[in-house]
Amino acid sequence: MATLITDECINCGVCEPECPNTAITEGEDFYEIEADLCTECVGFHGEEACQEVCPVDCCIPDEDKRETEEELLEKAKKIHPEETFPALAELTNETSLFQNPDRKNAGL
Ligand code: SF4
Ligand code: SF4
Repeated sequence: MATLITDECINCGVCEPECPNTAITEGEDFYEIEADLCTECVGFHGEEACQEVCPVDCCIPDEDKRETEEELLEKAKKIHPEETFPALAELTNETSLFQNPDRKNAGL
């Protein structure tokens, strides 16, 4: 599922440069994530990079936009056709939050 920025955002802007997919932009009232560009950082990080740096923890999973690890990896490949990504079975806890033991235990 894509990640969503809630209205608790304080517009600090630190998340924007951290997104590997440039999915984050300054919105009208607070920062926003373009769902079509958000891969939950699959292919790049084992956690959502935006949430990792957010001082108020307001980058949360969008339950209405659930996607599988495979779908997110395919999305990353489409966004970055010039890059080489690991195969689905080769994603690790450093390149996919689906392989992160903490997230697995949380029932991802
Ligand atoms: S979860 Fe990752 S890909 Fe999605 S908006 Fe945040 S930093 Fe970008
Ligand atoms: S890091 Fe958090 S508070 Fe700062 S702009 Fe991004 S979502 Fe908003």
